[in-house]
Amino acid sequence: MIAGSLTSSDVLVIGGGISGVSSAYHLAKAGVAVTLIEEDRIGGRVASSYGNMGLLVPSHALPVASPGVVAKGLRWMLRSDSPFYIRPRWDRELLRWLRGFHAAATHERAVAAAPLLYRLQAASVDLYQALGARLAKRADLERTGALYLVREQAAWSELREEAALLREAGVDAALLQADEVRERVPAANDSIIGGVFYREDARVVPDRLVVELAELARREGATIHEGVTVFRAVRDGGRGGGHGGRGSGRIREVYTSAGTLTPRQVVLAAGAWSPQLVASLSLRLPIQPAKGYSITVERPDACPAIPTHLYEAKVVASPMGPGRMRLGGTLELAGMDRSVNPRRIQAILAAVPRYLNGLYDLRVLEIWRGLRPVTPDTLPIIGRPRHADNLLLATGHGMIGMSMGAITGQIIARLATGEDPGFDLTLLSPDRF
Ligand SMILES: Cc1cc2nc3c(=O)[nH]c(=O)nc-3n(C[C@H](O)[C@H](O)[C@H](O)COP(=O)(O)OP(=O)(O)OC[C@H]3O[C@@H](n4cnc5c(N)ncnc54)[C@H](O)[C@@H]3O)c2cc1C
Repeated sequence: MIAGSLTSSDVLVIGGGISGVSSAYHLAKAGVAVTLIEEDRIGGRVASSYGNMGLLVPSHALPVASPGVVAKGLRWMLRSDSPFYIRPRWDRELLRWLRGFHAAATHERAVAAAPLLYRLQAASVDLYQALGARLAKRADLERTGALYLVREQAAWSELREEAALLREAGVDAALLQADEVRERVPAANDSIIGGVFYREDARVVPDRLVVELAELARREGATIHEGVTVFRAVRDGGRGGGHGGRGSGRIREVYTSAGTLTPRQVVLAAGAWSPQLVASLSLRLPIQPAKGYSITVERPDACPAIPTHLYEAKVVASPMGPGRMRLGGTLELAGMDRSVNPRRIQAILAAVPRYLNGLYDLRVLEIWRGLRPVTPDTLPIIGRPRHADNLLLATGHGMIGMSMGAITGQIIARLATGEDPGFDLTLLSPDRF
C-alpha cells in the first residue's frame, strides 16, 4: 500500500534537520538505499536546525547538566527575562525530567562525559570540513575559534575552572587578559576583565549547512521527500509490539501522509518531536523541548569577527554569512509551545551593549525561536534501543546538535551497516534512562 511516489527502501530516516540529513548522507555514501521524510521543507524554519547560532563546539564538552547549574537555574527559573526559565505547570514528564537533570548534574558525571563529547565534536568538525570547498563556501563554514568574555570576578573564576576541566578532556583553551581579549574582539568594552579563547571551535550558517548536506545526500542517491508527515510506526505483533508493549520487536510499517512504508530499518531524527513518534511504539524518550531565540540583524561595523559568548548573560553574538550578525540565547522549558516572549528578545538585545561597544540601534532582519531536544543528562541519544530491533535513534542533541551533526550521521550509517561505530557509545545509549 504505497501512495504517491513513496517507495520503501532499506532505511527510512524520519526528520530532515541536521541529524536526519547527515544520517541520510552517510547512509547513501555507504551504498545504502535511503529515504528521508521531512514534514516541513529541508532548511525550513520549524526545525531547530534552522535559526540556531551555528557554532561547532568541541569546547562544549561539559554537559549542561553539570555542578552549579542547578543552583543558578533555581535563582533564574522564575524570572521571565532570565536566560533559563521553566514555565510553572503540572507535568509528570517534566517533573521526571527535572529529577533526572538534578541527578545527572554532578562533578563526576560531567567529567566522565567530557572526553567523549570533545572527541565526538572534534571529529565532527573535521568531517564537515572534509565535505569540501563548495559546502564550506556556501554554508560559510570556518574554523575561527570562539571567545568567551567575562565582566565579573565570580564568573571569571568559574570560567577558568571550566577551562581547566576542559583542558583535562583534551580541549585547547587559552586564558586571555582584558587587553588580549580586545586584540581579538576590538568591540569588547572596558568592563571586560578577561576571557577564554577556544581555538578548535568553528561556525557555520546552519540552514545553509542543512540544505547543502541534503543536496550532497541526494547526489549520493538518497531520496528526500518534503512536506510528508510520519504519523506512527507499528511493530510486529500489532499496536506497540506484541510483547506487552516493552518486548523486543521489529518496526513493520510506518504510516505517513503519503502512504505506508515497510523499511528494513528506521532512523528517528525528529528532534523535539521524537518522543511523540516513539510513543506509538510504546517506547519512552525523556526529551524535553527547550526553546531558544535568535535575532538576526544587519551586520554592524562593530560585529565581532568570531563567535563571542557573553558569559554571564548566556548570550552569543556571531557573524552569520554575508552582511549578517546573529544574537542568540535563552533556554525555556515551556513544552511544545512555540510562542515568542518579547521580554526574552529584549533581554538578549539588552545584554549586548554591556559587553560590546557599537552594537546598538541594530536593524532586525529576523526573530526566530526553535525547540532544542534536551535529555535529562543533556547528552544525545545515539544508538539502537533494546526494545526495537530495527530502530536507530539520532536525537536528544540539546545545545550541540549542529556541532554533533556530521559525526552523528557517520555513527548512524556505521550502526545501520553493522560496522564498528568507532566510539564507545555507552553514555549515549537509548537504554540509559
Ligand atoms: C537558539 C538556539 C541556538 C542554538 N545554537 C546552537 C549552536 O550554536 N550549535 C549547535 O550545535 N547547536 C545549537 N542549537 C541546538 C541545535 O539547533 C539542535 O541541537 C539541532 O538543530 C537538533 O537537530 P535535529 O536534526 O535533531 O532536530 P531538528 O532540527 O529540530 O529537526 C527535526 C526535524 O524533524 C521534522 N519532523 C518532526 N516530526 C516529524 C514527523 N512526524 N514527520 C516528518 N518530519 C518530522 C521536523 O519538521 C524537523 O525538521 C541551538 C538551538 C537553539 C534553539
